[in-house]
Amino acid sequence: MGSNSEAFIGSIDQGTTSSRFLIFNKSGEPVASHQLEFKQIYPHPGWHEHDPLEIISSVETCIDGAVKQFETQGHNANQIKAVGITNQRETTVLWNKETGEPLYNAIVWTDTRHQNLVRKLKQRLGADKLIDLAGVPLSTYPSVGKLLWLLENESKVKEAYDKGVLAFGTIDAWLVYKLNGGPKKNVFVSDPSNASRTMFMNLHTLDYDESLLDFFRIDPAKIALPKIVHSADPEAYGSLGSTVLKGVPITGCLGDQSAALVGQKAFTPGLAKNTYGTGSFILYNVGEKPVISKSGLLTTVAFDFGKGTKASYALEGSIAVAGSSVKFLVDNLGLIEKSSEISQLAETVEDNGGVTFVTAFSGLFAPYWIDDARGTIFGLTGYTKKGHIARATLEATCFQTKAILVAMEKDSGHKLSELAVDGGMCNSDLTMQTQADLISIPVKRPQMRETTALGAAIAAGLAVGVWEGIEELKTVNTEGSTSFSPKVSKEDADKRFAQWEKAVQMSKGWAQ
Ligand code: ADP
Repeated sequence: MGSNSEAFIGSIDQGTTSSRFLIFNKSGEPVASHQLEFKQIYPHPGWHEHDPLEIISSVETCIDGAVKQFETQGHNANQIKAVGITNQRETTVLWNKETGEPLYNAIVWTDTRHQNLVRKLKQRLGADKLIDLAGVPLSTYPSVGKLLWLLENESKVKEAYDKGVLAFGTIDAWLVYKLNGGPKKNVFVSDPSNASRTMFMNLHTLDYDESLLDFFRIDPAKIALPKIVHSADPEAYGSLGSTVLKGVPITGCLGDQSAALVGQKAFTPGLAKNTYGTGSFILYNVGEKPVISKSGLLTTVAFDFGKGTKASYALEGSIAVAGSSVKFLVDNLGLIEKSSEISQLAETVEDNGGVTFVTAFSGLFAPYWIDDARGTIFGLTGYTKKGHIARATLEATCFQTKAILVAMEKDSGHKLSELAVDGGMCNSDLTMQTQADLISIPVKRPQMRETTALGAAIAAGLAVGVWEGIEELKTVNTEGSTSFSPKVSKEDADKRFAQWEKAVQMSKGWAQ
């Protein structure tokens, strides 16, 4: 039981499938938490929506639930000094700025209904230059296509736009707006790590860019866009207007992958993290100047803590199929009963026995961007056992991670010295050892893996002085971490990687 003067920070983690609220102490330990799943809405193939009001109510329930747990431990709610937000990125909410009522469900980042619209945009003059300003190329991923689709297809949205009452927000902006109390407070802001996923923000100025808005033919007089403020700010985000924490300031905000980078304390250039979830997201800190990739990566704002410091940028690469390949062995092939059994199965053999599995179930993402590849297993012989397939499955994510890291080193000119890891698949020691072996640098896994939520708490805590600065965070969440050191020679690792690259080339073209 802590003393009643001890300070705590709350963290709203609004993800794709669930909302959570965690309460951290100054050492970065979560002392209470509450989680709630919410409805996934799939109206048609390729469409994916969330109910924006359910997102808000789920967050409120989580806050109340976690604080209740916190208080049963003998703490008092008033020890929670500030709240940070981390959220699913790109997901788009549109509402009436006068009433605060949503005009449509949130269109989720995974949604691809606007594929044709994006195809047409790509043909516009200057489309290939957008990446220099926005950091991301045109695809169905950023928020802009979701907004344009709604303007074209939803009369309520078009009417609001014509009347000048349309408000646009990513999930962070929607949460801040509603949790403050909606139109009566009208706190309407977003942070640069979220705004850099819209395609309206200029990466260099950290503000909306007229030429980007022009390209998309969006009239800024007809649509309200949230003001872009620092990711850590004692005032800009207002305060909670509901729940038991009513009145507690919201002082930090980071998109989920940026939050994980911060939670891993990758504050300086050359540090990187990989979150091995369903898919895998690698962010690589490149410092205070954005690096526009020539190797198939995205550029994003990592964090912008204000107080006279400059924003930090990251290169980002994602792998479409990571932990889901393990689920594939469980659900589709029935080789194991649950994901956690994969290491054991893989350990029944010494190596992959010549098997390479390109897990390109929906093509390959960064750095390859091969749409027409499909999952392919190479090297099967009469000798192949289940264990070899299990090993090849784990290796596929590790090889793709290596390919992304190679691209990141090439683009940035920085050499990576260590990879910080989190996410479900990092629970597998064998996978993490394999990862270290293949990238020839140590892989570091913290004991407390709630790094995304911790990142938002760090942003919020920095803003209110719970931590004075980055220096003070050095010791946060270091206890009990595991380091996996490479055990094979660089030469051996390169040979295995060359085999993988050959398999990638051979998996091309299947889906034509
Ligand atoms: P998300 O946040 O994307 O839902 P999580 O970080 O919760 O993902 O990770 C879930 C994924 O991790 C699942 O796809 C699962 O197959 C994989 N996973 C979980 N535990 C293990 C394990 N011990 N070994 C390998 N993979 C695992």
